[in-house]
Amino acid sequence: MTQAYLDWNATGVLRPQARAAIAAALEVTGNPSSVHGAGRAARRLMEEARERVGALVGVSAQEVVFTSGGTEANTLALSPALGDSLLVSAVEHPSVRGGGRFATVEEIPVSAAGVVDLAALERKLAGRTRPLVSIMLANNETGVVQPVAEAAALVHAAGGLLHVDAVQGPGRIACDFNVIDADLMTLSSHKIGGPQGVGALVRRENLQLEPLIKGGGQERGARSGTENVAGVAGFGAAAEAVRAGFADEAARVVALRDAFEAGLKDITPEIVIFGAEASRLPNTTLFGLPGVKAETAVIAFDLEGVAVSSGAACSSGKVAPSHVLAAMGVNSELLNSGIRVSLGYATDDNDVQMILKAWAKLSKGLYRPRNHRVIAA
Ligand code: PLP
Repeated sequence: MTQAYLDWNATGVLRPQARAAIAAALEVTGNPSSVHGAGRAARRLMEEARERVGALVGVSAQEVVFTSGGTEANTLALSPALGDSLLVSAVEHPSVRGGGRFATVEEIPVSAAGVVDLAALERKLAGRTRPLVSIMLANNETGVVQPVAEAAALVHAAGGLLHVDAVQGPGRIACDFNVIDADLMTLSSHKIGGPQGVGALVRRENLQLEPLIKGGGQERGARSGTENVAGVAGFGAAAEAVRAGFADEAARVVALRDAFEAGLKDITPEIVIFGAEASRLPNTTLFGLPGVKAETAVIAFDLEGVAVSSGAACSSGKVAPSHVLAAMGVNSELLNSGIRVSLGYATDDNDVQMILKAWAKLSKGLYRPRNHRVIAA
């Protein structure tokens, strides 16, 4: 059984405010598109949530389009209707790296610290007429924060639009749509303590989106289908809770994360913390030891009751090396070693002590410092 949940970048613990809002919304029967009182009650829940999600990133409700999550919002944003070519950073989430609805996508490299190379972006923008560029606010594996405001200035100077996948940002770092000067921004409910399966694409009001799903014309034509009212209400409540508690939560979490990293270095001084030279989210540590496979360590942690994840993506039973670490030029001894620990609003010192105790025990079995010999493959 999991005793220390430290995988908040995968999904957060549902906030009590979100749970209460979902329960209340489930009692409302109307379809938000219906004109009668029951429908209007459901519509009110939608619009209150839209206000709250907009406020989280400093925009008005009209700029928020609800979707089924971050993946759909990314796919909705990356459309040839908004640009004639697509550039994305090499460390994006797969839902952006795949290029959405573009047939081809070109990557912008990152530095060894995992930060987008703005000089390379500027070179790649030269000569383009209407580029669409997608750069995440912060990376989900390393937590490295990207220079999105600087990127926005370059993209706009080139006549293009910037989409920012901000899924990992709210509650952790400042995330203001207008301060960044983004044109489109993706949010996901379950990363901020709302329910899974709900997200939003924030877009400048004058931007005409090309819908992925056509039908009844909900979400002002941008996303058809009867809305997930309870999910949206939970998302709105989570957004409101994050906005109200942002500064306190981030300060508390970074103190725990720093204590965790100090403890890790005490136990295994050879540890590598990926992206440590860059500005990072306050809640994320991606670390590794030469030759120690992350998948093995994640299972060993699980047996100790500690939930963490590996940076490597696992699909169809095969573990592929992390594209993020590969883009950072990490050497082959460390490429499959990234163990991700991510904290959240409910994390406390007991969780940190528990993972450090587990690491002190299991690192002995996985790693011999003197000759870097791998014990468990
Ligand atoms: N973008 C980033 C950076 C993510 O970390 C994730 C989720 O892991 C997504 C997008 C996808 O969001 P969702 O799970 O809501 O589809």
